[in-house]
Amino acid sequence: MSAPERQGIATRGFATHNKDAKFGPFEFVRREVGPHDVLIDIAYCGICHSDIHQARAEWEPMMPSMYPMVPGHEIVGRVSQVGGEVTKFKEGDFAGIGCFIDSCRECPPCKAGIEQYCIKGSAQTYNSTEMDRETPTYGGYSKHYVIDEKYALKVNATGDLSGIAPLLCAGITTYSPLKKWGAGPGKKVAIAGLGGLGHMGVKIAAAMGAEVTVLSTSPSKEKDAQALGAHKFLVTKDAEAVKAATGSFDLILDTISAQHDYNFYLSLLGLEGVMVVVGVPTEPIPLNAFSLIGGNKALAGSLIGGIPETQEMLDFCAKHSITSDVEVIDPSRIEEAYDRTVKSDVRYRFVIDMQNA
Ligand code: NAP
Ligand code: ZN
Ligand code: ZN
Repeated sequence: MSAPERQGIATRGFATHNKDAKFGPFEFVRREVGPHDVLIDIAYCGICHSDIHQARAEWEPMMPSMYPMVPGHEIVGRVSQVGGEVTKFKEGDFAGIGCFIDSCRECPPCKAGIEQYCIKGSAQTYNSTEMDRETPTYGGYSKHYVIDEKYALKVNATGDLSGIAPLLCAGITTYSPLKKWGAGPGKKVAIAGLGGLGHMGVKIAAAMGAEVTVLSTSPSKEKDAQALGAHKFLVTKDAEAVKAATGSFDLILDTISAQHDYNFYLSLLGLEGVMVVVGVPTEPIPLNAFSLIGGNKALAGSLIGGIPETQEMLDFCAKHSITSDVEVIDPSRIEEAYDRTVKSDVRYRFVIDMQNA
């Protein structure tokens, strides 16, 4: 099945056509490379749990799902064409694309480099439209992307690119709040949920110098947590361990994708502790005011990161030799990867190899 006729660069990807459909090949057209654009030949695209939420229409009505949908916002590849005015990239460079591909460029958040909070609404990499509010965007489960160089990231890699793809969402989504809320030496940081975001959170918080504890529902992940750099591992069903940890953390980064009790996690914070929510369960979660009042605690949220901070994160990860632990799959296994991710059976990010697709 193909998208409506449009002039441009013919490409193909993998799309789903409704919330219950399987992924299948999809032919469509990327725009011609404009003066400020780069054409990226996609090598790898990570599978973020947000892809699953949107492909399966789990965030409606807050975030409607548009079909056909080609998900994917953890994209790395090689620049194969550059527009006449492009200065940041040259042909052959590695490049990345994260969760948005454009924004209004004029509002205060855009001017401050936090384009994800664009007041007019940024253009998401998929399940969205370009800033004309008409042209649908298709994501990284595809062979090519055409993007304004301003919204593409520079990737300095010598070896395998597959472990770099997840940095474009999971990496920045954890780096930004960990930095903002002061993860570092002397700070006790807990990462709730050891999945794609969580495992990046552990690596990054440990590299920032914090004491890192994983809060997990999966006892089988303890060894992995240590290998990723965690100092402690707490199974949230273990009542004794929970009792011992109550009131002990300075910062909790909540990456959990499913329903869970915010009040429980807040009880693990110490005086003036902060819990930052990045996971997006599909239903609202009740909050007891006492959970915050008692210890002068704060509950915060965070959405990915802007282009300058995403570049900073990529450079931080390169400096600290941080990549994602990935299981590389062929596009024929997208559904299997989705099902395993939902069952918390991911170690720790599925990444689709688009090179031979
Ligand atoms: P993921 O790989 O599926 O990881 C989620 C982890 O949460 C699981 O591995 C599991 O870890 C834990 N978990 C699952 N169900 C749970 C439950 N019922 N109770 C407690 N813990 C549970 O997902 P992800 O890709 O890291 O994404 C996580 C969430 O962040 C998703 O909702 C996604 O949409 C959202 N997200 C937000 C942003 C943002 O900018 N704010 C960006 C990207 C993604 P254990 O096995 O250790 O318990
Ligand atoms: Zn994501
Ligand atoms: Zn803006």
